[in-house]
Amino acid sequence: SDRLFGGFRKTSERLSENLTGVVGTAKLDQATLDEVEDALILSDLGPSAASRITARLAEKRFGLTITDRELKEAVADEIAAILQPVAIPLEITAFPRPQVILVIGVNGSGKTTTIAKLAHLFQEQDYGVMLAAGDTFRAAAIGQLAVWAERIGAPIVRGPEGGDPASVVFDAVKAATQQGIDALVVDTAGRLQNKRELMDELAKIRRVLGRLNPEAPHDVVLVLDATNGQNALNQIDVFKEVAGVTGLIMTKLDGTARGGVLVAAAEQYGLPIHAIGVGEKIDDLRPFDPDLVARVIA
Ligand code: GDP
Repeated sequence: SDRLFGGFRKTSERLSENLTGVVGTAKLDQATLDEVEDALILSDLGPSAASRITARLAEKRFGLTITDRELKEAVADEIAAILQPVAIPLEITAFPRPQVILVIGVNGSGKTTTIAKLAHLFQEQDYGVMLAAGDTFRAAAIGQLAVWAERIGAPIVRGPEGGDPASVVFDAVKAATQQGIDALVVDTAGRLQNKRELMDELAKIRRVLGRLNPEAPHDVVLVLDATNGQNALNQIDVFKEVAGVTGLIMTKLDGTARGGVLVAAAEQYGLPIHAIGVGEKIDDLRPFDPDLVARVIA
């Protein structure tokens, strides 16, 4: 897992540090459980997951002798149990093609990079992928996506800066259909500062898509920056309201991020977590492996 996660391991040892010395070798009593719960909350797992995990520990081991090592393993097991049900990869199953995947998230979350990584992953699975530059609001966004498209050798449909995103998406779906594309990955504007406008824009994209294919968009993937901690969770609330969300990708788990926020998201929302971002490079998107991630966090 060192090779897989690089810095992710280093930084998320925080929970591990917080847990170290909590018991030494002692009986698992209420004071110890309280400390464990505090450590979990401090590590961004959120009060709900923290109390669920400590309750399970109490059920299984209250009054029994436990070492630090065993405590960490037990916590990792409980974390994995919370993550397991939401570890659902994004698969290309739509018929008719293309599968339309809207990617949403605030600017800076890693949305553009994640689109490229995701497209690359599909290409490696032998799917034909097209990108659509639906973030026409930011000057740099279209150019950035075009650079990635060129790098991975994927066609891109783009409109003029300031143009209508719904019209870009319309053109993209038509082109993708004509070209027998399997997955159309659509970038969208991430300006949450103007929630009303963003909501209207995404609703219009949905209407246009729905007219071309009632099933589209097949996926609405919210990209979250794990370094935002609790704020990432607030973004789930807002984007659920603004756009509907069918799944999550959490980025920047290689940096100073605490993986704990993944557990909080899983516990509070139950949305599929499709993958995690662990770096800036094209192949730095990892499948979401609950056991591995749980062991890295704990
Ligand atoms: P957008 O504004 O949401 O489209 O974000 P970008 O894709 O442009 O990414 C913003 C910054 O975060 C860029 O410098 C990316 O290289 C970086 N980034 C994206 N994903 C990751 C990740 O998983 N890990 C790290 N360390 N950096 C990332």
